[in-house]
Order: sequence, then structure tokens, then C-alpha cells
Amino acid sequence: MRDLFDLPITSLFTSELPEDPAGGQGRREVRGALFSKVAPTAVKAPKLVAGSRECAELIGLAEEAFGTDEFAAVFGGNALLKGMDPFAMTYGGHQFGHWAGQLGDGRAINLGEVTAPDGQSWALQLKGAGPTPYSRSADGLAVLRSSVREFLCSEAMYHLGVPTTRALSLVTTGEQVMRDMFYDGNAKLEPGAVVCRVARSFVRFGSFELPASRGEVEILRALADHVIRRQYPELGAPEAPTPIPKEIYLAWLREVRDRTATMVAHWTRVGFVHGVMNTDNMSILGETIDYGPYGWLEDYDPGWTPNTTDAHGKRYRFGNQAAIAHWNLTRLASAVVPLVEDTAALQELVDGFPAIYEERWGDMLASKLGWERFDAEQDASLTAELFRVLELAETDMTVFFRRLAQVTAGADADAFTDAYYLPGDVSSEARGALTKWLESYFDRATGLGLSDADRAARMNGANPKYVLRNYLAQVAIDRAEKGDPEGVRELLDVLRRPYDEQPGREAFAEKRPEWARHRPGCSMLSCSS
Ligand code: AMP
Ligand code: MG
Repeated sequence: MRDLFDLPITSLFTSELPEDPAGGQGRREVRGALFSKVAPTAVKAPKLVAGSRECAELIGLAEEAFGTDEFAAVFGGNALLKGMDPFAMTYGGHQFGHWAGQLGDGRAINLGEVTAPDGQSWALQLKGAGPTPYSRSADGLAVLRSSVREFLCSEAMYHLGVPTTRALSLVTTGEQVMRDMFYDGNAKLEPGAVVCRVARSFVRFGSFELPASRGEVEILRALADHVIRRQYPELGAPEAPTPIPKEIYLAWLREVRDRTATMVAHWTRVGFVHGVMNTDNMSILGETIDYGPYGWLEDYDPGWTPNTTDAHGKRYRFGNQAAIAHWNLTRLASAVVPLVEDTAALQELVDGFPAIYEERWGDMLASKLGWERFDAEQDASLTAELFRVLELAETDMTVFFRRLAQVTAGADADAFTDAYYLPGDVSSEARGALTKWLESYFDRATGLGLSDADRAARMNGANPKYVLRNYLAQVAIDRAEKGDPEGVRELLDVLRRPYDEQPGREAFAEKRPEWARHRPGCSMLSCSS
């Protein structure tokens, strides 16, 4: 493990790809380029709130670095390390189904890539480090509230086994940022913060859509070739100047499709709702990216969206995420038509998404139930009935599946009382339906010859006990805003072992308390961040 000043840092992105010739933070339209060099804005008093030791290990940084002033200075935006060449990326995107034109890193500044001891390179990016050419009318900053959420969720998802970008650190800036949380004229000052995100690449679907929309085929090709050669070496693309053949572009898109399907199936497994699945928030690596107004499903409700901006159309609701991923892949496929020149092949590839998703989700559903394999003939109706039953009464999905692993044949709905939000209000119809479903569930388990212990072991590896419940994040935020970082640190620690029992920490696994039902930040979130 290395000291901060010994990290080997390069920037393949800026050395290989076309640069915006204009400099500075001035807002502008950037054509014919994929990034603009721009430095982080210095802040008053950077201070570490929390760091992820697993993420430090990933990039080969000694954990002791977290305690130093230099760390806070670099990851708060006040200093650069040798080899850092800061820049903001150019990208576009479809937002809520509509083409939005140029977006770009409006408040994210990439620092460069660290080579880890195993040779893997990891891009570092500061979120909330000040304006860039892509900030449009906004300030380029981030508040502590949303930064705590991004920091914790990135690492929670990693520990859950969900593909995700990572977070190294959360630093407060010592400055205040004005935000109108619900866009209702009640703006107030909030503490500013910067999160250092870590990923192999931060390129998004929208990164391809923007040059494609402008007919900049050579820019589009440069980006695709860079991503394929650097991030998808297993595809065996020839090095430049040999052109990449059409078959490799197709193999790459197939891989993006499959990874995206896997990612969304994981979201469904753990009850995660992204909240803003715009194409600019879709990673080309199939990783969860841009933790904004996301939320965790409490009572099982496929129609739930955490994002107040999405409350009307509910485009990004829990049960619609696979369909949206499919739609987003269609946008990516359209963008790369000039490289592949075979719309039929692209169409076929995109059309394959629902089947891939069903396959991945089937695998996960089987382990959620405790089975080795999903057998559509027997399990499709069993699981459809389960999800119907879960909607009959407000039932916490996470508590439900952990409890299901514990109960044995003969159990009835009474065993699930602590999964019900309002146990006193559960109708006898709902209780009866659950009891009946439990009978078919145990019939199937018996048919499979599964022991309760094997079933429970498999289930407890697929159904987390500890997730980043919306109210838990808010409680940690309340403390952090008062200057106490311990809530964030403790929650991070709990989320390190989401599948373990963790005696003494059961309170973190309980369903949302009633006081949090309508509290902003616990049940409603906005894009304001
Ligand atoms: P999001 O919905 O958070 O993914 O953001 C959409 C676009 O708005 C991206 O281009 C962001 O960089 C930009 N953006 C969001 N918040 C800010 C901000 N406070 N300052 C500058 N740009 C922002
Ligand atoms: Mg975004």
C-alpha cells in the first residue's frame, strides 16, 4: 500500500482523446471534443467526514492517508497530485425520455487514473468541486446531504455485490451552498461537500449520443475505440491504427447489454430504485452511476419512485427499471449506427434485452427463494403469486425475505408480523393469501428435496439484512450536518456486511419507523443536490 504522494497517476483519457481547445470554466457548447481541461475550485476548509478503506485498498492507497491534511486538500479540490490532469467530460443524454442536447460533467472533475498494484487503472473523480464549461446555469457544487447519500450508497452497493462506481472519500468544504430542496421557493444554505468517486471509467451512454447527434462520426469512433480497447480488452480489438471491425463493435454492445441487464436484475434483487435513469446516468460499463434521488424499496410496491420530479409519470419506478434500461440501450444502439452500419444486427441485439434480463432475474429470484435454479414451469406462477400477495398489505420486502429464510413448513402469516408496516390493518384476506402462498412455497421446497439449512444459507446470501434504508441515511445526514461524522461512519460499517446477522445492530435492519413515513429525505427526494 502506498502513500498519497506515491500513487502512480496518468491520464489515458486526456492523452488519447480530442480536447476542447478553449480553456477555463466559462459555460459553453463544446463541439469536436470529448473533454475540457478544468481545475477544481479551491475551498475554504476541507475536512474528511469519512473514507472507504476498501476503496483505498482497491487503488493501492494506505488507509493511514485518510487522516492527513494532504488527503483532505487533494480530495476537497485544493491540491493536485503529480500526474493529475483535471478535466470535465462532454456528454449529452435523454432526460425523462426527451433529448436534452449537451449536458457534460457540470460538477464532476476527473483527476486522472491511478494504477493499482495489480495493474488495473482507476479513474478518480471529484463530484461537487466547482464549475466547469458544462455547468449551464448551476454552480458546480454539491451539498453534504446528497454527498453522504452518494458516498454511502456507492459502497453499500459494492458490498451487496451490485455493479457500481465506488466512493473513496467524503470531504466537507467549510463553505455553504444555497439549495431549494423541493423547488418551492424555500432556499436555504447547506454545508458543501465533495465526494471522490472511483471507477474504471465514467463514460456514459450519453457520451456517445452527443457526437452522434451532431454527426461527429470521428469523435464517436474515437470514444468507442478508446472504451473498447481500454475497458473491454477481452474483446481482442486490434490496436490503432488498425480499424476495429464491425463484429467487435457488436460484441461490445452485446456485452454492454448483458451487463446492464445484470445490473438492473441486482437492483430488483436488493430493492434499489435509481430514480433518474436518464441516458447520461447509464455507465458504459454496466455499473450503477450517479446516486441522486435514489431510494430503497420499503414496502413492496413496483409503482414506487423516490424522485419527486418523477412523481407524475413515475417513469423511473421500481417495476419499470428493466423496461427503461431497454429503452436506454436502444438510444445507445442508435448512436453507434454510423460505426456498425448494420441496423438489423443492432435491432436484433437490442431486442434480446428482455430475455437476457428475465434470465438474470430468474437466477436471482431462485436464490431469493432458496432454490438452486429457476424453473419457469413451476416457479413463474409461484413468484407471480408471491409478488401479488406482497402488494395486498404494506410489507417490507427486505424484512420479508430474511424472515422467509427462517421459517419452516407450517408457518403462517403470523410469522411475518414485523414485516408488515401496519400489522393491525392487515386484512384477513391478505393474511390468508400469504398463508396459502407459504403452503405452495414449502411444497415446492419439499419437491426439490431442500433442507431448511441449505435453503436458508442460499437465501441469506441473496437477501440482504442491512440495506441503506432511506431514513437511516437521513439520520446520518442530520448528524453530519451538526458536525458529527460518526453516524455516517457507523452506517458505512454496518453496510460492509449486509448479509451477516451482526448481533447488536438489529435496529439497522428494522422496517422504517412511522415518524419517517412522510419526512423529506426519508420518503421524498428531489434532484436538488
Ligand atoms: P443529474 O440529473 O444529477 O445526473 O445531472 C444532469 C446534468 O446536470 C449533468 O450534466 C450534471 O453535471 C448537471 N448538474 C447537476 N447538478 C449540477 C450543479 N449543481 N452544478 C452544475 N451542473 C450540475
Ligand atoms: Mg448525472
